[in-house]
Amino acid sequence: MSKVIIIGAGGVGNVVAHKCAQSPTIFNEIVLASRTLKKCEAIAQTVKEKTGQVIRTTQIDADDVQATTDLLKKEKPELLINVALPYQDLTLMDACLNAGVHYLDTANYEPPEEAKFEYKWQWAYQERFEQAGLTALLGSGFDPGVTNVFCAYAQKHLFDHIETIDILDANAGDHGYPFATNFNPEINIREITQNGRYWENDQWIEVEPMSVHQKYDFPVVGKQDAYLLYHEELESLSKNIPNLKRIRFWMTFSEKYLTHLRVLENVGMTSIQPIEIHGQSIQPIEFLKKVLPDPASLGERTKGKTCIGCDITGIKDGQKKRSFIYNVCDHQSCYKEVLSQAISYTTGVPARIGAEMIVSDQWKTPGVWNMEQMDPDPFMAALNQYGLPWKIIDLPLN
Ligand code: NDP
Repeated sequence: MSKVIIIGAGGVGNVVAHKCAQSPTIFNEIVLASRTLKKCEAIAQTVKEKTGQVIRTTQIDADDVQATTDLLKKEKPELLINVALPYQDLTLMDACLNAGVHYLDTANYEPPEEAKFEYKWQWAYQERFEQAGLTALLGSGFDPGVTNVFCAYAQKHLFDHIETIDILDANAGDHGYPFATNFNPEINIREITQNGRYWENDQWIEVEPMSVHQKYDFPVVGKQDAYLLYHEELESLSKNIPNLKRIRFWMTFSEKYLTHLRVLENVGMTSIQPIEIHGQSIQPIEFLKKVLPDPASLGERTKGKTCIGCDITGIKDGQKKRSFIYNVCDHQSCYKEVLSQAISYTTGVPARIGAEMIVSDQWKTPGVWNMEQMDPDPFMAALNQYGLPWKIIDLPLN
């Protein structure tokens, strides 16, 4: 039985709190801390109503290493689950090292002043975590997260060696708004307005944002327009899957979504360059976030399903083969269970499972790790048990 502290009371924090509270024999004490106390209290209230479990709440500014260290030293959790924003990754890793607490997150570090996410800043903590005897598990959401574990599973059980990986993320849900993002708008828009990038024959190839697309026929949700994006798991998987020839990431968007995004970009609303208004310096994208619907409020309105998976080709027993490993998740079922849409659910459940992997010692290994570096089997079993069942189908070779 373990005590955990969850940092961040947004859409994903809500799911992690509910899912941990559903397993009191594993997570016997839960503290939820975030910048805005009343958001923690609202989540604690629904957790109490849904599971009967009491979780404690407290206010914290996770940018403040000293304050977070003090909180961790006072609470003495075994693990910190970081579901605040990518900007807080390094300060929270520092606080974990100061207080001797294991660490898990769902997104890699991104400097607030530069729309650039990379693992180099977090990988630089490898020695410090190793020497402290602490585990840091990076990217334990769906993508990154489950997609990395799907690749590790394919490597272990389905192929003698993998040649290509296409990660495909389809959200065929509809929330009824003309434009809204399914998770933190600032992080989401920063991600998709960057150049696309993929890895082939040992080099990175860069393309204009949203310039490469395909119609992909997904199980259950059918044909969707999928656009090539750069996504953080490409960086670690291209290093950790041996002999890989190519890896790409695709996400589906509707024409309506892309038209809104184009207009917002053209008028400067997605910019992170600060502007002055009434003596206040703000990034236009921060303002945009304030006027868009809160992703945490989309749950009740969102209908339809997501399908996220890995389309993998490679060699098995001398034969070329192609398999798709995937999960389908229903927005309304998620709402019924934890008052959330499927995007937060598919991130929060893997964070809860990653937490169990660490506190149960199955993945407790001092150092800083990406998900595919761990044994996929216990994680894959837990996905079926805790709400994200997966399937494998064989596909015709292209
Ligand atoms: P939200 O914006 O809904 O929630 C973020 C929460 O973090 C808010 O409660 C916010 O507080 C809090 N927070 C922000 N800054 C601080 C700070 N300095 N100190 C303390 N708390 C802070 O985001 P989501 O829940 O949608 O996403 C959470 C994380 O999950 C993000 O890192 C996102 O990138 C990641 N993610 C990962 C996915 C994956 O599959 N791997 C998919 C989707 C998301 P306040 O309420 O005051 O704003």
